[in-house]
Amino acid sequence: MCNTREENAAELAQEEREEIPDGQAYQCPECNELEDFTIEAIMNTTCYVNGEAEVLDDSGGDIEWDGDDHMTCGTCGYEATVDHFELDDEGKHTPPAPSKPSPETLLAEALEALKGLVGEIDLSKLNIRKDFSLINAHAHASKFIIKMEGR
Ligand SMILES: [Zn+2]
Repeated sequence: MCNTREENAAELAQEEREEIPDGQAYQCPECNELEDFTIEAIMNTTCYVNGEAEVLDDSGGDIEWDGDDHMTCGTCGYEATVDHFELDDEGKHTPPAPSKPSPETLLAEALEALKGLVGEIDLSKLNIRKDFSLINAHAHASKFIIKMEGR
């Protein structure tokens, strides 16, 4: 009898663990931990010192962090920015917006796009008078590709 009750309690605890409690702000995206986290935050505090740099009194201050700060799960050790742990109003993870692509990445993508464009244009089928702007676009794109590839 006693055993059954303990099993039920264990099952209940298991169910409770899977539910996201109201007001839950963070959850580990790896192991679903809800309580045990570390955030490397900046603390603003006031410290009273004397002329010998001895601390006379330090008052508590505000601890501040934002989505870019470093966060660690105390259970599985998963490390990411706070953004990755944050839950929205519905208790779901919202992946942080991807960071802006670097100029190198953008340039590489532009090169690929232009190569695709040039590949699509069949010069042998074009009419020099009718398709002048297309031939011109092909020439500009080709010039850029040659410059980028250092040929
Ligand atoms: Zn975890």
